[in-house]
Amino acid sequence: IQDWSSVIQLDFYKTSGQSPIRIGFYDGYHGDSDPFDGQGHVLAHTFFPTDGRMHFDNAEKWSSKTSNNNNTINLRQVATHEIGHLIGLGHSNVKGAVMFPYYSFQKNFTLHPDDIKGALKLFSKYHCTYLKYSCTYFIKNLTIFEIF
Ligand SMILES: [Zn+2]
Ligand SMILES: [Zn+2]
Repeated sequence: IQDWSSVIQLDFYKTSGQSPIRIGFYDGYHGDSDPFDGQGHVLAHTFFPTDGRMHFDNAEKWSSKTSNNNNTINLRQVATHEIGHLIGLGHSNVKGAVMFPYYSFQKNFTLHPDDIKGALKLFSKYHCTYLKYSCTYFIKNLTIFEIF
């Protein structure tokens, strides 16, 4: 969240209503059209706006460490990719971009210029309308829902 908000200022805050974002860790079949496949391969998926579901494969060895060890998967990297989808970004074919579809550990993880370009393009007037969130300003002051 921190990574994207440095570019487009996403504010995540608590609301009393039902949360449009639902994040969960699941094994195998978990009630949607994309069952998880155990360790490796698929790590997570997110439904495009305005669905708000973000699911992580519970079978992976998730890690918050900044070094790569024992085939662990860095949660921050994958979450940043998935949040990219959540705000409406598709995949990038630029290797090293957060939105590149294949995970590889990055020691000094940060948004790639390609990601920033994508995010800025996305938050045009059209997409603000499309997202249907309380989006009054473009790029800055985009207010999005609640996170647990
Ligand atoms: Zn799912
Ligand atoms: Zn993806």
